[in-house]
Amino acid sequence: MGATAEIGGGCLCGAVRLRISGRPIFSVICHCASCRRASGAPSVAWVGFESGAVTVAAGDPQVFNSSTGVTRRFCRRCGTALTYENARRPGTIDVTTLALDDPSLFPPTSEVWLGDRLPWQPVDPTLQHFATNGD
Ligand SMILES: [Zn+2]
Ligand SMILES: [Zn+2]
Repeated sequence: MGATAEIGGGCLCGAVRLRISGRPIFSVICHCASCRRASGAPSVAWVGFESGAVTVAAGDPQVFNSSTGVTRRFCRRCGTALTYENARRPGTIDVTTLALDDPSLFPPTSEVWLGDRLPWQPVDPTLQHFATNGD
């Protein structure tokens, strides 16, 4: 249970495994249109870490640049969305919360890109709200 305990994660088929050490920088739910398309879900939960905290322990994720400076990785076999990196936040990497072996570890504290939210997707009134990226 220590702060340095390793966290496991990975994709649906098991080809890609992630190993994470260190504590998250943030935990959010993103409503942006790119995350929706990339995941096939109405919103996507992300946990952010320092880049060095996240290692690909098995497999070879496919890279996709969804916007300038944005790198998304996903399993080339089963399609699970895994990580997100943005050149405007160097030194950080976000991991899809639902790719963690225990997605309950880091509950989200805010919702971002609510300006893109689908009208039928509920908002959690107990979280912080941002119309865009929360900066
Ligand atoms: Zn897979
Ligand atoms: Zn997003």
